[in-house]
Amino acid sequence: MRARHGHLGWWPGETPFEVCVGAILTQNTSWTHVERAIANLKSVGVLEPGKLFALPETRLAELIRPAGYFNVKARRLRAFLRVLVEGCGGDLDRLFAGATAKVRERLLAIHGIGPETADSMLLYAGGHHSFVIDAYTKRIFFRHGWCQANADYDQLKRLCEASLNRKAPPARLDYWQDYHAQLVMVGKDFCRPRLPRCEQCPLRPLLPPPERTDSQDYSHRRPPSHRSRDSKHALF
Ligand code: SF4
Repeated sequence: MRARHGHLGWWPGETPFEVCVGAILTQNTSWTHVERAIANLKSVGVLEPGKLFALPETRLAELIRPAGYFNVKARRLRAFLRVLVEGCGGDLDRLFAGATAKVRERLLAIHGIGPETADSMLLYAGGHHSFVIDAYTKRIFFRHGWCQANADYDQLKRLCEASLNRKAPPARLDYWQDYHAQLVMVGKDFCRPRLPRCEQCPLRPLLPPPERTDSQDYSHRRPPSHRSRDSKHALF
């Protein structure tokens, strides 16, 4: 994947705080819409913890409207900001301090933050080794026979973390950040829900051999859809 795409400088966010805001705003929507919402926040100079928390919820919802589900997301953002501002003095380092499992628990306890959002924050903003699973990952893994159709988020997370642990921690963080980004690229560009483009895909050599020779149509291998509270791609 890296040979095809190069090293991907992901996640798109200028600061760790912007990454966290983006992780909430991207729930159930595309990144293009998130960018417009974040641009609105920047244009009025409120993209920092204290200023964002000081905004009335209705004003916040108005600014993030382009991201969709803006009332729900305004409530979720404020729930996150309450913990960050009131519990940690607006300091992300304090929010992310401690063992990964403990910090993850802390994030998951916040209204509107599910596993995918929490892991995105941990991996891309907090410097924690916590692999992100999304619908692209599940579709790719299922089509290659690396997971069952009913595999849940935690099973896939454990599988990825156990399989991608050869690098020592300092390098592993970058490796996992890039790895998830590579899977997203493959999912978007090649492993489409209905008509996967296996012929052009960098993962084609890893397809199960019998099916690879019989047919290029992997569209029938689609995991069942389960919409979760935080998956932007509606599979968990
Ligand atoms: S080779 Fe086909 S099934 Fe595998 S990731 Fe690429 S598009 Fe999906």
